[in-house]
Amino acid sequence: MEFELRSAIMRKSGDELRVAPNLDDRVRASFSWQAIQAELLRDRPGDFNLARLATDRHVAAGNAARIALRWMPRDGPVRDIDYGELTSASDRFAGALAALGAQRGEALFVLAGRIPALYIGVLGGLKAGMSVTPLFSAFGPEPIRTRIEIGRGKILLTTASLFRRKIERILPQMPSLSHVIVVDESGEGDPPAGTLDFARLMRDAAPAPPAPPTGAEDRSFLHFTSGTTGTPKGAMHVHGAALMHYATGKFALDLRAGDIFWCTADPGWVTGTSYGIVAPLLHGVTSIIDEADFDAERWYAILAEQNVNVWYTAPTAIRMLMKAGPAVAAKYRFPALRFIASVGEPLNPEAVWWGKEVLKLPIHDNWWQTETGGIMIANTADMDIKPGSMGKPLPGIEAAIVRRDADGQVRVVEAADQEGELALKAGWPGMFRGYLDQEERYRKCFAGDLYLSGDLARRDADGYFWFIGRADDVIKSAGHLIGPFEVESALLEHPAVAEAGVIGKPDAMVGEVVKAFVSLKAGFEASDALRSELLGHARKRLGAAVAPKEIEIVTSLPRTRSGKIMRRLLKARELGLPEGDLSTLEGST
Ligand code: ATP
Ligand code: MG
Repeated sequence: MEFELRSAIMRKSGDELRVAPNLDDRVRASFSWQAIQAELLRDRPGDFNLARLATDRHVAAGNAARIALRWMPRDGPVRDIDYGELTSASDRFAGALAALGAQRGEALFVLAGRIPALYIGVLGGLKAGMSVTPLFSAFGPEPIRTRIEIGRGKILLTTASLFRRKIERILPQMPSLSHVIVVDESGEGDPPAGTLDFARLMRDAAPAPPAPPTGAEDRSFLHFTSGTTGTPKGAMHVHGAALMHYATGKFALDLRAGDIFWCTADPGWVTGTSYGIVAPLLHGVTSIIDEADFDAERWYAILAEQNVNVWYTAPTAIRMLMKAGPAVAAKYRFPALRFIASVGEPLNPEAVWWGKEVLKLPIHDNWWQTETGGIMIANTADMDIKPGSMGKPLPGIEAAIVRRDADGQVRVVEAADQEGELALKAGWPGMFRGYLDQEERYRKCFAGDLYLSGDLARRDADGYFWFIGRADDVIKSAGHLIGPFEVESALLEHPAVAEAGVIGKPDAMVGEVVKAFVSLKAGFEASDALRSELLGHARKRLGAAVAPKEIEIVTSLPRTRSGKIMRRLLKARELGLPEGDLSTLEGST
């Protein structure tokens, strides 16, 4: 039963392949990074500057009038920014940064909601040769301060209201900052004391003087990880990543010029930067930028009314739409939608099937990390989907399952269906170049030329990869290795369950026992009867050895601000242990 479900293939029908995919067997066979470089850097060979490739290139090609960003403010009318305006505005901001004395390699931090100035700021910073860190605007003062301190932030771009609420009081504790630039969103007038007004700077700035080419190894972004397993790490990235952003945008997301694309991630997380800013702009796509937070009705309306062609979102969002129920979805049709992808957490098979039913398209899971800089393993448009699988490595990416021998040697497991750590052959463009100030930690991620991801997975005989769990989250019970994902997915099949988080609880007899925390869909009430029903359902689906011994019904699960279930926190709370770094916990300040 288990095996049959797991190996089920969702075959694509003609309707789902209305447009021939960007990736097919021929493209796979002839792929080379050199060819991607020749295609992307045709006009300025040797200049890898991500922002110039993302903006100037389209103007030079005569596409200045194409819409780059369609900004949907929380309230009020939509504002379109075309490639011409985005190019000149980012040039001006780069000029303003240069006039402020910003040097190549110095750090620009951007703390703002999803407003146009954020995008202009990030692109201008890259054009000025700065290392850029977009920070999630819902961070409280302390996580902001520590990141700016660790990243030696030189210039901060923020908004007047965020400055007043979060920055003003910690400014004296951030001595590395030489300038704070403030966007006056509500037209309050004078910038707060000690800050510079964004609009005035932009008005007065001369566009940046023609810059020397940016090298492939020049620093682009410093991204902090989500902190799901511990303290967030500062991963350093380079402009050469442009090749990967471009290739993955084309092959994993099936982007093509003129598409309307919506990446729902905030640029404060790597997905929102790599695929909310860089990749779509490299492809001359129109990106939907929604300033507001998740709201089922609003999201369906955006997908339908903005004629979104390609949608990149996350399992949490999909589960929230599922939780909102079919009645909301039934009000909308999505004829323009062509491709849907998801990242950030494992995508439960149930969610893939839901996409097919409600949105009339399957959802394509893909896997990557802050460290990899871009998508590595994906269900692509040309592939049939095995719901629950992350898909196959993209062209140019070699992935393997590895295990450590008794003597500590890392060995590649060639056979199919074996569990082990997911590793990638190092050297793809866009791989991180280190954790800032943590050389030792960085070195530990490698065994020879293999990058070790810290995630456990298996590869089946067809080459599809299946996520098992993070190495830290995997449960060892009576000699079995149990992945939380498998247990959570089985629980999610039950109509009452909206979300599930599974941990291992120490047990004298079997090592660890499985405990599940679940939240319920609208219309279901917690009760002993429901708990027993869920225990029974899990036992039937998973067998007694793997099924949870205990199920606790909760109103919500602790999540990172990037939307990932924090199993380490569920476990710490269950066992009464220290809660660790909570800077990225949703709802904390
Ligand atoms: P930290 O490393 O600080 O604990 P994090 O790993 O959550 O944080 P990210 O780099 O944002 O930070 O997340 C990458 C991780 O997210 C992956 O290593 C994996 O565990 C999980 N992940 C991402 N996409 C998928 C996916 N499609 N399926 C399963 N897991 C995924
Ligand atoms: Mg990680």
